[in-house]
Amino acid sequence: MVFCPWRSVRRFKLDGGETSGAEGPAFVLRHRTSNLIEHATDSTPTDPTSPREKWDTPTTSFPTSHLSTAECPSHNGRVPESDDERRKTEEDDRRTEGEEKEEEEEDEKSSDEGFMGMTPLLQAHHAMERMEEFVHKVWEGRWRVMPHDVLPDWLKDNDFLLHGHRPPMPSFRACFKSIFRIHTETGNIWTHLLGCLFFLFLGLMYMFRPNMSFVAPVQEKVVIGMFFLGAILCLSFSWLFHTVYCHSEGVSRVFSKLDYSGIAFLIMGSFVPWLYYSFYCSPQPRFIYLIVVCILGLSAITVSQCDFFATPQYRGVRAGVFVGLGLSGVVPTLHFVISEGLIKATTMGQMGWLLLMATLYITGACLYAARIPERFFPGKCDIWFHSHQLFHILVVAGAFVHFHGVSNLQEFRHKAGGGCAEDDTL
Ligand SMILES: [Zn+2]
Repeated sequence: MVFCPWRSVRRFKLDGGETSGAEGPAFVLRHRTSNLIEHATDSTPTDPTSPREKWDTPTTSFPTSHLSTAECPSHNGRVPESDDERRKTEEDDRRTEGEEKEEEEEDEKSSDEGFMGMTPLLQAHHAMERMEEFVHKVWEGRWRVMPHDVLPDWLKDNDFLLHGHRPPMPSFRACFKSIFRIHTETGNIWTHLLGCLFFLFLGLMYMFRPNMSFVAPVQEKVVIGMFFLGAILCLSFSWLFHTVYCHSEGVSRVFSKLDYSGIAFLIMGSFVPWLYYSFYCSPQPRFIYLIVVCILGLSAITVSQCDFFATPQYRGVRAGVFVGLGLSGVVPTLHFVISEGLIKATTMGQMGWLLLMATLYITGACLYAARIPERFFPGKCDIWFHSHQLFHILVVAGAFVHFHGVSNLQEFRHKAGGGCAEDDTL
C-alpha cells in the first residue's frame, strides 16, 4: 500500500492507548477546531507542551464552546466595553460562524461530489486513508503499545499481560526496529538474542580449540558441534519469532512453527554429545538411544507443524510435548546409573549437572504452562519478569549447564586417554 501525503487532507493520530476501540489501534480524527485550539494555546507563553508533544498526546475532541472570549484570537484578548461594541462583536461572530458553516458545507459538498454522493464509498475512502496513515506511522516507527483486549485475535496469547503490546505491524523493518522499543516482547527477544550470540561465540571458541585437547578431534568437534547447532537454531528461531510475530497472522504462524521446532533441535542436539561420552565404550546402546531421541524429536517437530499446536489453549500440551521429549533421557540415564553405579555416575558421569539442567528446563516449562507469576499479578509483569521471559532465561541457563557437564565429560575422556578397559565401560 502506498502512502500519498497529498491525499491526506485530514490529519489522523495513531493512538494505541486506552481510547482505542475494539477495532485495534485507534486513529483519532483531529478536527479543524483542534487546529484553532493549537493556534490559541501555542500563543500562550505558559504552555509547556511543544507542537510535537501535542501530536503525541491523546486527543479526542475540542469543542469550540470551551474557548473563552479572552482566549479567542479574533478578539485580541480584549473584552468589549460598550453595548454597541458588544453588539458589533456578536454580529462579527455570527458572520464568522456563518462563513465557517458555509465553508464546511462546501467542503462536504465537494467531497460528496467527488464520490458521486455515495456515503459507503466515502466511508471506504476514509478507511483507506486511515489504513495508509497507519502503515505510514508504523513504517516510521511512530506506533504506540496497546492493551491486550484491543489486540486482534491472532495476537492475543497471554491475557494476564494487560498492557504494553505491540500493534500489528505489517512491515519487517518496523518489526526489527521494535527490538529497541519497550513492550511485552522486549525481554523475550533480548534474552534469546543475547543467548544466541553467547552460544555462537562459545561454539566458535570450542571449534578452534587445539586438536591436542581431544582424543578424536574431528569426531568430537562434530558431536559437540551438534549441541551448539541445536542451541543456536533454537535461540535464533526464538528471537526471530518474538520479533516478527506481530507482522501478520501468516508470518506469526510460520515463525511459531520454527520456534517450536527449534526447541526440539536443542533437545536432540543436547542428547548427542551426552550419549557419545556417557556410552563411550558401549556403541550399540549409544546408537539405539540416539535413533530413539531423533525419532521422538522429529515427531515433536511434526506435531508442532499443526496450526492448533500454537494456539493458547494448547499451551499445556506444548510444554508437555517438549518436557516429554527431554524426559526420554530418563531411560539412558537409568541404564547408565545401573551399569556404572551411583557414585561413578555422579562423579565422572556428571549426573549432578544433568539433574540441574533437567530442573532448570522443567521449572521453565512449568512457569510457561501455568503463566506464573503474571497469573498472580495481572498487569504487573507486562514488560519484565513474566513467565515467558523467565522460561527463556531458564532455557539459556539449562543449555549452559548442559554444555558445562558435557565439557567435563569430554575432559574426563581426554584424561583417560580414550581407551576402553575391560572394567571400565563408561
Ligand atoms: Zn519464546
